[in-house]
Amino acid sequence: VMGIDHLRDPRLNKGLAFTLEERQALGIHGLQPARFKTQEEQLELCRISVMRYQENLNKYLYMTELHDRNEKLFFRLLSENIEMLMPIVYTPTVGLACQRFGLIYRRPRGLFITINDRGHVYDVLKNWPESDVRAIVVTDGERILGLGDLGACGMGIPVGKLALYTALAGIKPHHCLPIVLDVGTNNQTLLEDPLYVGLRQKRLSGPEYDSFVDEFMQAAVKRYGQNVLIQFEDFGNHNAFRYLDKYRGVYCTFNDDIQGTAGVAVSGLLASARVTGKKISENKFLFLGAGEAAIGIADLCVKAMQVEGLSLEEARGKIWMMDIDGLLAKGRPEGKLDGHKAYYAKEHKPVKDLASVVNEVKPSVLIGASAASGAFTPEILKSMASFNDRPIIFALSNPTDRAECTAEQAYNNTDGRCIFSSGSPFPPVTYKGTTFYPGQGNNAYIFPGVALGVILARIHHIKEELFLLAAQAVADHVNDSDIQKGSLYPPLSCIRECSVDIATRILDYSYQEGIATVYPEPQDKKAYVMQHLYNYNYESALPTTWPWPNAPEIKT
Ligand code: NAP
Ligand code: MN
Repeated sequence: VMGIDHLRDPRLNKGLAFTLEERQALGIHGLQPARFKTQEEQLELCRISVMRYQENLNKYLYMTELHDRNEKLFFRLLSENIEMLMPIVYTPTVGLACQRFGLIYRRPRGLFITINDRGHVYDVLKNWPESDVRAIVVTDGERILGLGDLGACGMGIPVGKLALYTALAGIKPHHCLPIVLDVGTNNQTLLEDPLYVGLRQKRLSGPEYDSFVDEFMQAAVKRYGQNVLIQFEDFGNHNAFRYLDKYRGVYCTFNDDIQGTAGVAVSGLLASARVTGKKISENKFLFLGAGEAAIGIADLCVKAMQVEGLSLEEARGKIWMMDIDGLLAKGRPEGKLDGHKAYYAKEHKPVKDLASVVNEVKPSVLIGASAASGAFTPEILKSMASFNDRPIIFALSNPTDRAECTAEQAYNNTDGRCIFSSGSPFPPVTYKGTTFYPGQGNNAYIFPGVALGVILARIHHIKEELFLLAAQAVADHVNDSDIQKGSLYPPLSCIRECSVDIATRILDYSYQEGIATVYPEPQDKKAYVMQHLYNYNYESALPTTWPWPNAPEIKT
């Protein structure tokens, strides 16, 4: 590459950080003003620029534009300002960006594969300019965050998740590929919106849709190899479970809404053991919700209890669940105990209301993943505090106004004794002179590190154990001062360390289990992980040169 392309290509561009020698040698001298800047000076300017915007969507657009202009600067800015910028590049702002996708779409980032491309999915994949993709995040846009069916506008999600792959786990940007499978949308507003950029047709379902997804999986592997990691994201509930079960033993795949959520919730439970002194298996669980998040968490809790020595039946027996129809009880009508719900059904008469189940079951852990705002009423919280010294209350539903209770309600109604965590961030709460800083059970603690480990070990199939391992790693990063402050999670600024630790443990585990396929086995696993991390610092744009010794004089 010569000349102006060094300024136009975001992977090469360093802006005013190009040195005089570089500017002259590359043929870009004079195309920029005279000033030379360090990357640190550029970062400072970026921070000022982002902060000047009032609207989060404008901050998002600024970040997108920076991503398109100077990749290293974008990733360094994001990596070093996670607390400020993760809510911009990811939830909640990315949700808004998806809703306005037709309005703000500028430049290509990611691949749109439509149902019209059936039979040619591989041809579309060939158009992606990178040949060494290691990780794909794919959505069909049916259930974007808590926003429902956004069709092709869901592209913001794979783009945002993969930005976190790089910023939080150092996975190289050219190894990442965001994909939307555009099979239409059932969102009538979008279908009628002149700005909608996806296929304007009803969502395809049934065998045709399944064979399209099959073709996609086969094409991805044909193009990038059997090891390519395929993360499913924001699929509808029914498809999410089906595809996970169908593909997990065939491809290198996981579903973050199910398994990543499970990892982060179980991590919080492991950390809470330091307060309650109870092992996971010494708890009794009640879930409000029996969807992707709740079932995922319940399944991983079962795994954790089995590791502690319980049988499968004993473990499942400790978990009670409620969905929109009430308690999961045996003898429900046909079709009301689908999939994994059946595992948790109890011999019990039908009950609808949460309060009476709480009083009867007397759980030590109450987890909400129902999107039913306010379902954990003061009465329910008070009962939890009446039979538990330290009740564990997780109100995981997003966004904030969907949470089963607020942090404030949780502390106020449990005498300040509860161990609380939420899906959306809550401000600190002061109760009788003590201030609590509740942690947020953000999937970003888990999925980037898992992806890094899986990619580096070249694991073929992602076992459930990896998420348990990741949960333990994150819990081990929680220190006593976090716990004293009321948080079950390390500060967001520690995620990068968590990711490296998760990946290192995955490498250890996968060589022990014989599921790593990189030969030879690296001796120092942590050093191996560190060696492969993306470097967001600038490197010289000049070719390497070296001197030769003077030729010895030949006497004639
Ligand atoms: P989902 O698959 O649609 O599951 C929702 C579940 O809640 C279903 O089982 C549904 O019952 C049940 N439900 C709905 N309304 C209810 C009510 N009023 N009372 C009792 N149960 C009710 O959705 P999901 O993916 O699991 O997500 C659920 C919530 O968890 C969302 O708000 C999401 O934002 C949140 N979440 C948080 C995190 C996190 O904190 N890291 C991660 C993922 C998801 P039926 O089965 O009968 O329909
Ligand atoms: Mn998701």
